[in-house]
Amino acid sequence: MLQNNWKYLNIENQIVINKISNIYSSDKKFIKKEGNIDEGRVVFKSVQVSDEVWGADSDITIEWKKLEDPSHYHLGRIVNESIQNYALINVVTNKKDRLWHLSHEMIIWYGSKQQMSRRRYFVSKVIHATFFCELTQRLFHIHANCLANAYDYYKGAIIEFINSIQCHAN
Ligand SMILES: [Zn+2]
Repeated sequence: MLQNNWKYLNIENQIVINKISNIYSSDKKFIKKEGNIDEGRVVFKSVQVSDEVWGADSDITIEWKKLEDPSHYHLGRIVNESIQNYALINVVTNKKDRLWHLSHEMIIWYGSKQQMSRRRYFVSKVIHATFFCELTQRLFHIHANCLANAYDYYKGAIIEFINSIQCHAN
């Protein structure tokens, strides 16, 4: 499928994603949205469902939470905690990159997971990004899963999704 992008607007919660590939559904009934400007999440699902047990080949969740006391905020520590939490559900982290998202320091880690579901064995890939938006005082986590055999197809779209997030008004 030729990839085009669509734009996700969630103005009331100050979340805009400028470039979502059309390999993720823009249909509102597949976009699960909850919360408010201080704490919330939105889940996007891929259009492609190649396995009914697994469900959508890929999903991306963007989650935000206003920090009570941002002076104690430490990106490295928060990222390590998230890696440990995902390790509890058997996600193995392979690689970690430190980069910038707008003016915010961001860490992206890459991982993989093997799991059994209804006596079936699945291998999936994970991309997880974390940054703190000083302007809205919100901590963001973006967590994407995808079936390992479709990873090459989804990886670029996941990275573009992350890079096109507008977490604060200009
Ligand atoms: Zn921001």
